[in-house]
Amino acid sequence: MSVQIRYYSTNRNLDGVRSIVPYTDCVSFKDALVMGQAPDEGLFMPERIPRLSADVIRKLRGASYVSAAMCVASAFLEGEVEPEILKKIVADSYNFDVPLERVVDNKYVMRLDQGPTASFKDFAARMMARLMSHFRDRGKRLNVLVATSGDTGSAVGEAFKGVAGIDVYILYPRAEVSGMQKKQLDTIGGNVRTVSIDGKFDDCQNLVKQAFSDAALSYLNLTSANSINFGRILPQIIYYVYAHARLARDDEKIVFSVPSGNFGDALGCEFARRMGLPVERIIMPTNENDEFPRYLATGIYKKISPSRACISNAMNVGHPSNLARLFDLYGGIVDRGGIVHKYPDREEMKRHIFSVSVGDQETRETIGRVYRTYGIMLEPHGAVGWRGLEVYIDKCGDFPLCVSLETAHPAKFPDDVKAETGVTPELPQSMKDVSRKTGEPLPMSGDYREFRDYLRGTLKVRE
Ligand SMILES: *Cc1c(COP(=O)(O)O)cnc(C)c1O
Repeated sequence: MSVQIRYYSTNRNLDGVRSIVPYTDCVSFKDALVMGQAPDEGLFMPERIPRLSADVIRKLRGASYVSAAMCVASAFLEGEVEPEILKKIVADSYNFDVPLERVVDNKYVMRLDQGPTASFKDFAARMMARLMSHFRDRGKRLNVLVATSGDTGSAVGEAFKGVAGIDVYILYPRAEVSGMQKKQLDTIGGNVRTVSIDGKFDDCQNLVKQAFSDAALSYLNLTSANSINFGRILPQIIYYVYAHARLARDDEKIVFSVPSGNFGDALGCEFARRMGLPVERIIMPTNENDEFPRYLATGIYKKISPSRACISNAMNVGHPSNLARLFDLYGGIVDRGGIVHKYPDREEMKRHIFSVSVGDQETRETIGRVYRTYGIMLEPHGAVGWRGLEVYIDKCGDFPLCVSLETAHPAKFPDDVKAETGVTPELPQSMKDVSRKTGEPLPMSGDYREFRDYLRGTLKVRE
């Protein structure tokens, strides 16, 4: 029987820093999942990273996605979730394809765009939803409140759809979401309801925040499906192990390129490497929000505020939240506001990580060129990833086995893709279905009392 992994806060050593009271406890995976964030606003990190032995990695050759998922998840959750239950959770989470498309030589694109909302966010959200359902107190219903300006809301909503014991309420700003996004949100149905607010995204977020801090609502078992939850990092370790199992010969080394915004996806790769996966280098290309590649090049970290608007819009992040975790792994400390309290070991970082900023012009050019040269269709985020790999090879030399991540389906960016390739990408089945589905949001003014009355009158607290 192995010892459970405990989780600490990345702010635990910030003694004497104004406005931070360091949280020095360690919690179980369950508590880290339920709490989302540490009370000192730090991010939870595992005290120990489990190792996959060379033998285990060899035995994974040719494994299915569910087997790779089981291998990673059970290493982290041993002693906290029974193997049979975990097997059900991963099989239920990953019921779609994960294509590895050969581009040229031994260089591949891994398409993480076959889930219900055609973005890689589905991978993390689906497993986190099922883990939350598993860990909830028996007989209790959990009520998840989410404020969204678009895409994350539908990934979270779809992930929780039909999950036992949990209802989801998604608030979005009526005038700020696109027609397609509104349709995607309103038609999820079942245990997932939408509330369209007469206001801005910030108003939605404020309503949710007020509800969480309202003592009169504590009996409602409200919870968030926060993007900084460690429960969303763990599932993002799996596809790296899977890609290696499918493509590498035994313990052959592999290069990954991971287009990065909040660096949660890339962090998954860093964990995979530390678990023992033979990763030669992790490429973390960004769009014009270049605070991280600048830090690696100069040693000085300066967040970008406000963030720059690029066509790879899910990566428009001026201070990545997961930098707190990445710095922590290399001995540094950075807080939520972007202030560095201790710099990490940059030389060590550069041995494992390569980063470069890819501008919009270069992103567009890459979409067109990759399509004409190899017949492979990329959307803006995937193009940043592929271009990052090309720059790496130019600077550091060719490497036999490389995988670049495609994080969204090209059909989510029809105009950018059509402009560069001349082709309108075909919608995946999940998105075709949306146009035939129906569903209406509940309209609300943005007044907190109205929202609170609604919650008290509607939410169920028992199964
Ligand atoms: C969220 C997102 C990213 C960035 O992932 P991070 O984990 O935030 O670095 C990249 N591409 C797409 C399509 C995304 O939705």
